[in-house]
Amino acid sequence: MDKIQMKTPLVEMDGDEMTRILWQYIKDELLLPFIDLKTEYYDLGLKYRDETNDQVTVDAANANKKYGVAVKCATITPNAARVTEYNLKEMWKSPNGTIRAILDGTVFRAPIMVKGIVPYIPTWTKPITIARHAYGDVYKGVEMKCFEPGTAKLVFDGVNGSHQEEVIMNFTEAEGGVVQGMHNRCNSIRSFARSCFNYALATKQDIWFATKDTISKKYDHTFKDIFQDVYDTEYKERFEAAGITYFYTLIDDIVARVVRSEGGFIWACKNYDGDVMSDMLATAFGSLAMMTSVLVSPDGNFEYEAAHGTVQRHYYAHLEGKETSTNSVATIFAWSGALRKRGELDGIQELQDFADKLEKATIGTIESGYMTKDLALITKMEKEKVHQLNSLDFIKTIRENLAAML
Ligand code: NAP
Ligand code: MG
Repeated sequence: MDKIQMKTPLVEMDGDEMTRILWQYIKDELLLPFIDLKTEYYDLGLKYRDETNDQVTVDAANANKKYGVAVKCATITPNAARVTEYNLKEMWKSPNGTIRAILDGTVFRAPIMVKGIVPYIPTWTKPITIARHAYGDVYKGVEMKCFEPGTAKLVFDGVNGSHQEEVIMNFTEAEGGVVQGMHNRCNSIRSFARSCFNYALATKQDIWFATKDTISKKYDHTFKDIFQDVYDTEYKERFEAAGITYFYTLIDDIVARVVRSEGGFIWACKNYDGDVMSDMLATAFGSLAMMTSVLVSPDGNFEYEAAHGTVQRHYYAHLEGKETSTNSVATIFAWSGALRKRGELDGIQELQDFADKLEKATIGTIESGYMTKDLALITKMEKEKVHQLNSLDFIKTIRENLAAML
């Protein structure tokens, strides 16, 4: 069989620990035998980030902007323990944070559903995609401990001489209290809205959005207003033509509706809501290892990855020579997502078909009873039909099924 040819390279961002091991297995077993794989390789492993003073992360993000499509392996975000472990020059920032800041993107996370792994909410028969605004709010907040009586104020001085001032709290008790100031930018909210509406059109799904605008009449209400304005002026007609809808309600109302729903829509979340709800959804759908993630920028760049981390505990077991059973599904889907998008942009139908088959082979492998330990523990399949495989054998079994389809 001739290998599938590519035109434009994918931006390949390698990573750390167990996922770096899986990365190589996936390339060797599932990609290189079938595709004449073209990538521009960036090593985002912590050692090389440190060697380049994290320049490699910036270069990778810029390459993502240049070529449009990237696939990323999970990476370590260093903390104090990692600084010692890797003898780092500095506690480098989160690579995902750096890439998000350069692409100004929105993160979409969707569960991969397979028969036998039943969501904790059994009415969810279709995936729910979370779109998380990855900028501002409490993540860029400024806080103070004011542990004595006194007055906390919110002050704005406009460059043109305007002045706004509000008392946040007049603390009268001896032990005072705490205050917090946070912001968002109208531009970032508008980008967020466009990314959401574009993704809804691209995936033909309804989009739901919620804030607490009844309580937060200026802050949250601005999110509501900008979304409505962007929808009315730029997307309404295209949504109607595609037969999809934009639905806005309050955050507490939406939570209730999500639980009662059957899934199959995109839930746009403010930054904090998205942080919390994506972990809730990943667990409720069965496993963190079955959650894909794609960063979409408003000017149409895509970065695909797994939602989970580097699976450190499994990596240490692997280094000790112990057998691991780490789930590679989300990382495989990061590759298939990126290859499909590359195929779409370059008009290569074969590459899109390959991506579809790779996903089908992966799901089919699990549904026929061959899976990693995390899934074997939670599947509703009859015990005799379940075969728990190690990390590499799982990927090799997918390869057999894929080869049979090609
Ligand atoms: P993690 O790597 O997601 O793993 C947490 C636990 O979840 C694992 O110990 C494992 O549970 C289970 N798990 C996650 N993915 C799995 C998979 N593919 N197959 C089987 N089990 C899986 O999170 P972490 O241990 O908190 O973080 C490790 C490193 O990842 C950190 O340095 C962090 O900075 C980084 N991180 C990176 C990203 C990213 O690059 N996007 C995201 C999050 C975290 P058991 O141990 O019970 O088997
Ligand atoms: Mg979180």
